[in-house]
Amino acid sequence: MKLAARVTQVTPSMTLAIDTKAKAMKREGIDVISFSVGEPDFDTPAHIRAAAEAALEQGKTRYGAAAGEPRLREVIAQKLQRDNQLCYGAENILVTNGGKHSLFNLMLALIEPGDEVIIPAPYWVSYPEMVKLAGGTPVIVSTTLENGYKITPDQLRQAVTPRTKLFVFNSPSNPTGMVYTPDEVRAIADVVVEQDLLVVSDEIYEKLLYDGAEHLSIGAVSPEAFERTIVSSGFAKTYAMTGWRVGFLAGPLPLIKATITIQGHSTSNVCTFAQYGAIAAYEAPQDCVQQMLDAFTERRQVILNSINAMPGLSCPKPDGAFYVFPNIGQLGISSLEFCDKLLDDYQVAAVPGIAFGADDCIRLSYATDVDSIRRGMDRLTTYVKSII
Ligand code: GLU
Repeated sequence: MKLAARVTQVTPSMTLAIDTKAKAMKREGIDVISFSVGEPDFDTPAHIRAAAEAALEQGKTRYGAAAGEPRLREVIAQKLQRDNQLCYGAENILVTNGGKHSLFNLMLALIEPGDEVIIPAPYWVSYPEMVKLAGGTPVIVSTTLENGYKITPDQLRQAVTPRTKLFVFNSPSNPTGMVYTPDEVRAIADVVVEQDLLVVSDEIYEKLLYDGAEHLSIGAVSPEAFERTIVSSGFAKTYAMTGWRVGFLAGPLPLIKATITIQGHSTSNVCTFAQYGAIAAYEAPQDCVQQMLDAFTERRQVILNSINAMPGLSCPKPDGAFYVFPNIGQLGISSLEFCDKLLDDYQVAAVPGIAFGADDCIRLSYATDVDSIRRGMDRLTTYVKSII
């Protein structure tokens, strides 16, 4: 069978592949400790589950509007106004099957052959692949540890060509956990406006901030930046709702209308009763978010202390999300080889940095309990010592 060229150009998602392998090993009874996929280990908070259960009981089990339940679109628009100073109405919101799907819809609506999309590296694994699936060309701009893995305004300016269509901005970052300060966001927004770019701001980790880090949405910098911004986000990471598949895209009306058409011919609406859980997530008090953040804060310290005590590994302190991105460059081994052996011989799952465009690093998600982190770090230490 001859598959379409668009499929043969993309590589499978390594985050999902490793998670699948780790879960299969666990099913076989192997004591795997997983730092692979970015998935909170908490259950979805009870009030969110209850809202979805009530929706099921109330017969919210039928097709809904492809764009999303009207109430959820309203609630998302209100949240973006309240928390992010982004002036969207409900009509500017598309409810999607998770944050990933919102980005995919965007690429499909916006990108065509010949279009370039600027992506700072390290990047989340799916950005370049989505651009390719849409027929576009990812333009990868490597950032440095010295700059906190953040693209500088000059780097962005230099990457722009007449073919540039979109810039992908992600803060807090997956995989590095770095957060652009408000001043840095403003400086990047200036370039976006000066070069008349479109920017998609992936803000899915916006609530997971440490040590007083602040999140500023790039669209809130100025009316000119707002016009050029599209926001992608979702409920998975903040409310431990990974399996629910509810995310959203917010942006200018013509774009959102185009993505509604795409969704109308592809997935139709997001699971109706899941959307009622999402409404509750935004409408209820946010104590559950703070509780999970407190737990992540402790875990982050535990994992950082362990990694920084290991020979041959160095790790910057992340300000957000729930990932650490240690450098393994001194070990003289590729990230893929490192992670394969770590899983096969030490039963610890981590994602090779190559998946994120940084082969000298590995990504560890600390969205798991402290005991598992300690045990996993003991194994990692033994492994690293065996290499050095
Ligand atoms: N975004 C999460 C991660 O990076 C979930 C897996 C995925 O969609 O890539 O681990």
